[in-house]
Amino acid sequence: MAGDILDGKGFAAGLRRKVADHVARLREVHDVVPGLAVVLVGDDPASHVYVRNKGKQTIEAGMHSVEHRLPAETSEQELLALISTLNNDPAIHGILVQLPLPAHLNADVVINTIDPSKDVDGFHVTNVGLLGTGQKAMVPCTPLGCLLLLRDRHGDLSGRHAVVVGRSNIVGKPMANLLLQDSCTVTIAHSRTREIEALCRSADILVAAVGRPRMVKGNWIKPGATVIDVGINRVPAEETGKTRLVGDVDFDAAVKVAGAITPVPGGVGPMTIACLLANTVTACSRIHNLPEPEDLTV
Ligand code: NAP
Repeated sequence: MAGDILDGKGFAAGLRRKVADHVARLREVHDVVPGLAVVLVGDDPASHVYVRNKGKQTIEAGMHSVEHRLPAETSEQELLALISTLNNDPAIHGILVQLPLPAHLNADVVINTIDPSKDVDGFHVTNVGLLGTGQKAMVPCTPLGCLLLLRDRHGDLSGRHAVVVGRSNIVGKPMANLLLQDSCTVTIAHSRTREIEALCRSADILVAAVGRPRMVKGNWIKPGATVIDVGINRVPAEETGKTRLVGDVDFDAAVKVAGAITPVPGGVGPMTIACLLANTVTACSRIHNLPEPEDLTV
């Protein structure tokens, strides 16, 4: 029997509706409009598409949206000056610098210049430390989306063995921290991990965040496990001669073994922008010392 397909697209639509309700309440009751500023440096076509989608969904949720598109040759000083202006702008509650940055810009320096209370990506070292020590943090959007899907599926996650494949600062590490906070037993795997297939087969929850198309095979999955596929990989589509998106998991084989699995596209991807909007409302509530919506973060 095939596993259930976790509908990230539908869940994300529900989350965006909740965000819009909270935005309407903030506006009506407190005369506050959450504002998100997205900064894009350079002309990476994929990044331009992401930024356009973020702006569109921010406006649809009733929020204030600002986009700064800067040329690829922007200096670090110019970028840091813009971030400083946004840090001091009372109409802005969330600042996101689209990654990757051009090679001459140091992403760590840039991210750590953002006011941590406005760091809706959750990448500032202060937020990383707060999350790692179990304190109230801004939580990175993609792992937050994965955790919301897992909680929706299972409720209590405690005691489950979670294997996270990938140890990036953006996905793997914060995902592991969140699962640990929810009392999973967590193992992080990476490119040097030995016997990764057997390790994955021991997972009740398997999160793949690798960036290698269909790396995780059906026989790497424990029967009945929940599989979260974060990967977004563009591969040639033999049927059409064009390209299509696939995850880090071999979906067709995995769905026959797993208890539940996220598809690509339509799984984790849509959750990421929805969580960005949710984080902007959370940041806005915290900055204004207003009660924080409980259903938008963890
Ligand atoms: P990343 O920074 O490139 O990290 C990839 C991780 O995978 C690294 O820790 C690497 O290990 C590990 N890895 C590489 N090859 C491996 C192998 N053969 N076996 C085991 N581990 C291996 O990537 P990322 O930013 O975390 O993104 C991962 C994937 O998620 C990408 O496909 C990306 O497009 C996607 N993504 C999706 C969303 C979304 O919204 N759905 C958001 C962010 C990222 P080492 O550390 O040892 O090199």
